[in-house]
Amino acid sequence: MSLPVRILSTDFDGTLHAEHEDPPIPRRLENLIARLQRQGVAWVINTGRDLSSLMETLGRAQVTIWPDYVVTVEREIHRREESQYVGLEPWNNRCTAAHQELFARVRLDLPDLIAWVKARFHATLYEDAFSPFCLIAQNNGDADAIHAYLEEYCLTVANLTVVRNDIYARFSHVAYNKGAALGEIARRLEVSSESIIAAGDHLNDLPMLSEQYAKWLIAPGNAIPCVKEAVLRQKGFVAEELHGHGVACGLERILQSAKSSVSSETCRIDHSVTGIRLSASTQQVRKSSIV
Ligand SMILES: [Mg+2]
Repeated sequence: MSLPVRILSTDFDGTLHAEHEDPPIPRRLENLIARLQRQGVAWVINTGRDLSSLMETLGRAQVTIWPDYVVTVEREIHRREESQYVGLEPWNNRCTAAHQELFARVRLDLPDLIAWVKARFHATLYEDAFSPFCLIAQNNGDADAIHAYLEEYCLTVANLTVVRNDIYARFSHVAYNKGAALGEIARRLEVSSESIIAAGDHLNDLPMLSEQYAKWLIAPGNAIPCVKEAVLRQKGFVAEELHGHGVACGLERILQSAKSSVSSETCRIDHSVTGIRLSASTQQVRKSSIV
């Protein structure tokens, strides 16, 4: 059977990996991904984590498979070369330059933004290598309110957006997100969106959970409501099972449907050539209907 899939892009936390489970990545999912990789599918982990945090967590999970590509902080691309992950230039350089220029403008407003949040919420605010303004809210209600305020602010700065994942948020350039990074990998591999699967559970996954980048969409049962809605709206699959178990279920359905479509194609071709099979099965159906 020729696979209709050439790229699999999975979010990490909550989608592939559940910290509280043992093992955190289900063996059933690991085996499925290994099988896909053996058949030539490029596996991408598309995450908000930075590279060292992702590598450490994969190591602790004692995985037996490794992604062919990694997208970190929702925007930087790394390709596996032997046992190393090497940054993809010039994408990462363009990404860094765009953010440096953007954040130079944002820095002027940082004192006011920080003062607004601190006057209303107990939240952790800090700067890291990827954003001059990073937030860890105490709960999702606080994060929602701060997120709304930051989105209002973004309207005043060209190309600025908020990337949110649960109680975490930071600023980013609108041109760089999980979807754009997946699109760049697909462009390099010359793969159309028709042959791409994307799976995710939270707000920062929405840019890649789009038909623009992936025909086949999966959300595990723990995905937040707007992610489930987006996936269903685009005829994707929302699992009942949580985390990696749900993704495994989605992958199995996609592979099964691919197998079925290959079978029906074979049947259609047989009929066009011989005319016998359809005739026989038509008689069978008529007979069943009479009975
Ligand atoms: Mg997630």
